[in-house]
Amino acid sequence: MVVLAPDANFTIVGINQSLLNLIRQNEKEVVGKSIFDFFPDTHCDKKSGLADLRSSLEKVLSSGKPVKMPVQKFDPSPKEGHQPDRRYFQVENIPLFRENGEIEYILHTSQEVTEKETAERQLKSTEIKLAAAQQIAKIGYWKFDIPKNKLFWSEEVYHILGVSKENFQGSYQSFFQCIHPDDKEAFSNAREEAITGKKEMDLEFRVMQPDGILKWIHEKGKLEKNEKGEPVTFEGTVQDVTVSKLLKLSLAETAERYYYASKATFDAIYDWDFGTDECYWGEGFTRDFGYDAETLKDNNFWEKHIHPDDKQKIQEEIKKSTEGKASKWLNEYRFLKADGSYAYVLDRSIIVRNQEGEAVRMIGAVQDITEKKKLQQLLDKANSLAKIGSWEIDVENATVFWSDVVKEIRETGKDYHPTLQDGIGHFKEGFSKQTIVKRVKEAVKHGIPWEEDLQIYTHKGNLIWVRTIGKAEFLDGKCVKIYGSFQDINAQKNAELEIRKLYEEKNHILESIGDAFFTVDPNWIVTYWNQEAEKRLMVPRSEIVGKYLWDVFSDSVGSESYKKYHESLESGKKLVFEDYYPSLAKWFEISSYPSEKGLSVYFKDITERKLSQIQVNELHYNLQKTANSLAVSNAELEQFAYIASHDLQEPLRMVTSFLSQLEKKYNDVVDDKGKQYIHFAVDGANRMRQIILDLLEFSRIGRFSGKTEEVDTRKVAEEIVALYKKQAKATSAVIKFDNLPVVNTIKSPFTQVLQNLVSNALKYQKPGVKPVIRISAEEMAAHWKFAVKDNGIGIHPDFHQKIFVIFQRLHNKDEYSGNGMGLAIVKKIVEAMGGGIWVESNESGGSTFYFTINR
Ligand code: ADP
Repeated sequence: MVVLAPDANFTIVGINQSLLNLIRQNEKEVVGKSIFDFFPDTHCDKKSGLADLRSSLEKVLSSGKPVKMPVQKFDPSPKEGHQPDRRYFQVENIPLFRENGEIEYILHTSQEVTEKETAERQLKSTEIKLAAAQQIAKIGYWKFDIPKNKLFWSEEVYHILGVSKENFQGSYQSFFQCIHPDDKEAFSNAREEAITGKKEMDLEFRVMQPDGILKWIHEKGKLEKNEKGEPVTFEGTVQDVTVSKLLKLSLAETAERYYYASKATFDAIYDWDFGTDECYWGEGFTRDFGYDAETLKDNNFWEKHIHPDDKQKIQEEIKKSTEGKASKWLNEYRFLKADGSYAYVLDRSIIVRNQEGEAVRMIGAVQDITEKKKLQQLLDKANSLAKIGSWEIDVENATVFWSDVVKEIRETGKDYHPTLQDGIGHFKEGFSKQTIVKRVKEAVKHGIPWEEDLQIYTHKGNLIWVRTIGKAEFLDGKCVKIYGSFQDINAQKNAELEIRKLYEEKNHILESIGDAFFTVDPNWIVTYWNQEAEKRLMVPRSEIVGKYLWDVFSDSVGSESYKKYHESLESGKKLVFEDYYPSLAKWFEISSYPSEKGLSVYFKDITERKLSQIQVNELHYNLQKTANSLAVSNAELEQFAYIASHDLQEPLRMVTSFLSQLEKKYNDVVDDKGKQYIHFAVDGANRMRQIILDLLEFSRIGRFSGKTEEVDTRKVAEEIVALYKKQAKATSAVIKFDNLPVVNTIKSPFTQVLQNLVSNALKYQKPGVKPVIRISAEEMAAHWKFAVKDNGIGIHPDFHQKIFVIFQRLHNKDEYSGNGMGLAIVKKIVEAMGGGIWVESNESGGSTFYFTINR
């Protein structure tokens, strides 16, 4: 609506928002300018829209009466890249008068009639097409010679029926065959009537062309008689009416559309005068609700027919709106129809107010929305089942609408009136809040729709997951409305999060286990492949997941693993095995777990272990071999030593016994020198005997006959001290010991070792020095360490090893008696019992012999 001054330019004085939207301008740019700056000033310029605007306005000025203009097409500036909208308007220019009768303003009003106009124009164009089709239609002529039973067709008939001249026999039967089976009966009847002269033929029917194409034919036929009144020819025309027939069918559809379009534009109108409290009910109430004119005259028509349950509420709402400042009113309620059923109606009205702002009239339109409502109810039901609500924000009027489901989800109570702030105010601080704010901004600024799953606090303070979907509606580049849906997805989301958590946990475990792991489905398609598997088999996840395992590892087809995997899957049994993978030169320990979903396979790289095992096996084998040969040679040696010492004893005994015979019997004959020689010989033989005995003993060491027992080493030491009592007394030797333990060992060899070391300690002393010997023991982790310490002559480090070798001595027998077997025997005993022996000594500070006994 534009208010114009009645000057030469028709200056714009006022303009409403919807027209501003239409011409895509704002008020400042428009007011004060001529209407022709925005609408064309030309006459009859159909293309540009408002034709004859100037002449219409001038006519208003000259006649002082409202002037209606023909329906106008208008879209001044289509959006870039868009086809111009085809929008149509019913335009009327209405004069407004001053009190003195002069025209003060002209009201230029326009009402959009696009839908109706489009339908009308479509109808028109269909009619034009139909006429054209008829014009170009070609007509064929035919003639049937009754006495000769001969049928003649013009060229066009062949063409129309799609039959070639060569194939057509020219008889009525061959033509009859072409007729569509469903139309044959009607055709025969019509022909019969025509031939018998009852009625001229005028019929539409379908024929099937030999190529299968269906055609609509219009046939007209007439009977000709000769002078005698006998029928001679039956002739007429055929016309291909396929195009027009189809057009007619589509025309019927178009007409139907038009009917609904025009019906929709006419709501049932009422006009209620508050002053007189009279109400006019339009014809629409007859058409839509079935009431006759008489009923409509009843002043209480409305009160009598509104549903009793809605009456009070609606009356209150009307009262509230009219007493307030509202200029519009809208409501839905149930309204009784003449047939006794209730219709859902949408009642939209304008509240007309006087200068004081009091409501004086209410003009409204009532629309039957029962069908819509039913659908809506169905939708609401579905939505409420799925907990989907809808919401809408009218940006221009800053009003907010929430459906009942939204209120239910947000726990506000049904009567809650949401504010703009409520929309985003309750989203959880942080991600949810930031996201919704961002999405709404993007929607309002750039028209980007959103769909997000976010967390929101209900009005009762419960934190829930919702899915919010939103979209902005634009008019001339300005956002006018934001609307969308709101769904409670708390249960699903929590379940989903739970599943995801489980999945992530599982994933985490699978990723963090040191083992490589993969899964395949029953068709050997890889479904999972962890990092470790990537590393071990040098195949990235992206290259294998979703693929056929044996395509990627074609070199393993037929391998041990291949067989075992198949066996495991087929038998449903867990298998653990080792396999060598030659292309990577690696050994793996593989566990395969079958399930309905396929196979889960864990594997470990055991190459190192496997190699060291092989090495150990080899080592063990070599050792065994050496031990065997050693045992053999040892046994041989022992046997040799035994035989040698045993066999040597015999001649030695002879030497000794004959020497003693010689000494006895020839005592008188042999001089002193001879006696001394004999003495040397006996002494030598004795020593040799001792050596042979030692050797024999040495050879036997290692085959102890006694059992291990608890041996009190202190007691053993005391016994030894007692044994050397005499000797010790002679040299004033002191043998000390303290805290000697009880150990688990074989007593006699242990005693022999200790005795031998004490004996040496007493023996290898410096002349004139009082021997001090100390026996001690120290508890170590795995053994006892015994020490025999003396203050004797000491041993040069060069000989610390040598002294343990058989027959090795550092002195001659005159200096210190002995045959060099003692320490060799001691060493052999200690080692045979699993211990070790060594010496720490230097020539100035005495010696300490250490030996160990296992604990
Ligand atoms: P033998 O005592 O019969 O000579 P051993 O095998 O007992 O033989 O000793 C080997 C050599 O070790 C001895 O000849 C001696 O030189 C040296 N020896 C042994 N014990 C001691 C000791 N306590 N102090 C110094 N030398 C020792």
